[in-house]
Amino acid sequence: MIKKIEIVEVGPRDGFQSIATPISTATKIGLIKDLHAAGLQRIEIGSFVSKSAVPQFADIDEVLKATRDFPGFDPQVLVPTARRAEEAIAAGAQHLVFVLSVSERHNQSNVRRSPSESVAEYGRMVKQLPSMTKIRLNIATAFDCPYDGQMSIEATLALLDQLVDLMPEAEIGLCDTTGRVTPDHVEKLFSACFERYRQATSWAFHAHDTYGLGLKNVTAAWRAGVSVIDASFAGLGGCPFAPGATGNVATEDVAWLFQGMGIDTGVNIEKLVGVAQRGAALPGAQSGGRVRDALAARNRLTLETIT
Ligand code: MG
Repeated sequence: MIKKIEIVEVGPRDGFQSIATPISTATKIGLIKDLHAAGLQRIEIGSFVSKSAVPQFADIDEVLKATRDFPGFDPQVLVPTARRAEEAIAAGAQHLVFVLSVSERHNQSNVRRSPSESVAEYGRMVKQLPSMTKIRLNIATAFDCPYDGQMSIEATLALLDQLVDLMPEAEIGLCDTTGRVTPDHVEKLFSACFERYRQATSWAFHAHDTYGLGLKNVTAAWRAGVSVIDASFAGLGGCPFAPGATGNVATEDVAWLFQGMGIDTGVNIEKLVGVAQRGAALPGAQSGGRVRDALAARNRLTLETIT
């Protein structure tokens, strides 16, 4: 079993994206700085997208510039197209996240293209990358689609067959977009990927906790051999397909889980919980997770006991 897990903090992108109230550039930079100080080396800090479509990321250039030189920091930015990838690289990005869906309907609604058009776009993008650029390829609806229900393992593998060879060193993230996957399916799909694509360097899992299965699914991915887990501080990021429901699995919950199993994540949970409390308090934020409140309650209890 793997004894070291890398948690990729996606809150400043996946979480902030679902907050309609504008978050000031200074607040974003402060939160990213403190998440990094809590031990999170890799953080998805925003998206290069249309500023009118997603005003929350209108300041992505500035956020990238202010954070990219933190010592040992690996900032990721999301890019939906090859043209946005060029923009991100011109702004100094060195780690890009490209996303496409297994499901035709989800890809159309997310990026207004068919999955095969997105495959071609990804192919164009990787051809024009400067040599040191790192890529995370996120596969949305890898398990389940909000429109079409469960995605078969064969359907996801058929899409991956078209992608893996385009850039074998890319890290591939399988995303449970709806939060409806169950641990058996997580383990089965990752095991099938490890078996089929031995040349792909690494795999990641992006879990949602919408139905309370987030940590169970993360554990299943780890058991299958996955060592990179996406999570969002304070569980930020509501679920657009289940309004009012919680979204991403909370970083502090994932760190707590692995710490309890004696597996190194590099995260200082006490520090992280302090940042997560600020994240949960952002106006318009939909927060999730359990550990933040549990530790806050425990700390209160300790204070009352000793005073
Ligand atoms: Mg998410």
